[in-house]
Amino acid sequence: MSQHIGAPAEPIVAKKDSVSVGQEIGSAQGFVSAPVHSPVNGIVKDIALQSHPVFGRAAAIIIAVDSEDKPQVVTADKYGNDFNPQQYSAEQICQAIRKAGIVGMGGAGFPTSVKLKANPDSPIETIIINGCECEPFITCDYRMMLEWTQQIMAGALLAGRALDCGNIYIAIEDNKPAAAEAFRLAIEKTPAAAGTKVALAETKYPQGGERQLIQAVTGIDVPVGGIPPMVGVLVANVATTAAIADAVVLNAPLIYRVVTVAGGGIEKCGNFYVPIGTPVQELIDFCGGLKSDAQKVLLGGPMMGFAIGDLSVPITKTCGAITVLTEKEIGNAKSTGRQTPCIRCGRCLDVCPINLNPTRIAHAAEHQMFDVAESYHMTACIECGCCSYVCPANIEISGHIKTGKIMVARQKKRMP
Ligand code: SF4
Ligand code: SF4
Repeated sequence: MSQHIGAPAEPIVAKKDSVSVGQEIGSAQGFVSAPVHSPVNGIVKDIALQSHPVFGRAAAIIIAVDSEDKPQVVTADKYGNDFNPQQYSAEQICQAIRKAGIVGMGGAGFPTSVKLKANPDSPIETIIINGCECEPFITCDYRMMLEWTQQIMAGALLAGRALDCGNIYIAIEDNKPAAAEAFRLAIEKTPAAAGTKVALAETKYPQGGERQLIQAVTGIDVPVGGIPPMVGVLVANVATTAAIADAVVLNAPLIYRVVTVAGGGIEKCGNFYVPIGTPVQELIDFCGGLKSDAQKVLLGGPMMGFAIGDLSVPITKTCGAITVLTEKEIGNAKSTGRQTPCIRCGRCLDVCPINLNPTRIAHAAEHQMFDVAESYHMTACIECGCCSYVCPANIEISGHIKTGKIMVARQKKRMP
């Protein structure tokens, strides 16, 4: 029930109820919230606290899948280049997105209907569709851009229609020429996409961060502590954009997502179309299981993902990857696993893309001095993990900052 920023959804089914594919089972609570739908036909086995990748534990509806259940069919072939977003009103688009439970699938988890609600005081002049997944190992967005080009295009045009904005960029890293070419062709053949352009961004980490991408595409800096709409820009991930098209055109809720399974510690790597709620263990089993030298299972990529010890956690709407690292792969990044005292080398400051002082923030957060951490702009951290990656003392700098941000959000009641 907690797969998004904002109030958790509230279960609206009871134990032993039958549920069907696409049925709403958790209702949104308030403006900043999102409903949850069943991805399968089955019976509600329990409604209970369940392991959660971010919050530790959270309310969940556990469904025993009907043995006759059939996997959802991919919908990308439903979109042609004659797509015209003008047949939908802005209000219709926002309502459909809210009803479908769409949230930022690039990891942010912010309810998309809130983002796409036009605000006359802060009009959106540029939309950037974010195809820069930028972390090593992850390729789910790349595959979607190649295979679902027209669907993503339809979602981008719908976002533009909702915000009355025709200036749309599809941002793609310059090491993915095939994806860029696919979009150039789609734009050429789609009359409604006249204002859409492909923006090639340098391949570097963390290019896919909202601020970095806005800077790279438009040259505009989002002020520290500010959000993209303040500078007239909206950024939406490609998976979210594809889900927008399904919600508006097919009235389809968000119940599946593409997940990359990668790393040297898994038998079979690939991109998989997965029912949301699937336990991580089931997906790992489907991929042939862990290899004997598997050391760490990460939800997400090696830079921003976090290690999980309990493989019963579900794939959520925001989880685009499972990375299984071997001892050798971890060893490539860190010479020893042992943490030593900070030697004040300043490397973490040099690499921080937001120009923060990571060591000071992490020290304050670790010692629960959250007011001090906030005075160093802790909430502006984009959790890219660069500081931890370069730290010769093996200090989990970004981990301390991430925990600090959760603690502060809890204190302010923005998180369960
Ligand atoms: S994780 Fe570290 S490097 Fe990245 S933004 Fe936060 S403080 Fe800066
Ligand atoms: S990189 Fe590590 S050792 Fe160097 S200043 Fe930052 S925290 Fe200290």
